[in-house]
Amino acid sequence: MKTTSKRQWAIKKHLAEICHNTGLSTDEVFECLEFQDYKCSICKELLNPKKHWLMPVPDTEPTTGEFCGVLCVSCRLTLYKYDRDPEKLYARAKELRDERLRLVKS
Ligand SMILES: [Zn+2]
Repeated sequence: MKTTSKRQWAIKKHLAEICHNTGLSTDEVFECLEFQDYKCSICKELLNPKKHWLMPVPDTEPTTGEFCGVLCVSCRLTLYKYDRDPEKLYARAKELRDERLRLVKS
């Protein structure tokens, strides 16, 4: 039998409220959360409803409303900041990588 830690229980409680308000399936979201080992699917940080930037949020595809995974608030905001556009995200990532390479060389 699987045991649920206090933190895992708090994450599920937080997500259950969001699911209740948005009509998402708690079964689907919880299954994904466990598959992701209670970590954000992008940055892999442990989700934590008590820390603002690590608060868990179900991510949905904007046009279809289809559930895509559980993210931390920070990663979800980043996706929306760049319009969920891979080209814009890649361009920003490239800028950061180039900047880091310049710092290493200097
Ligand atoms: Zn994240």
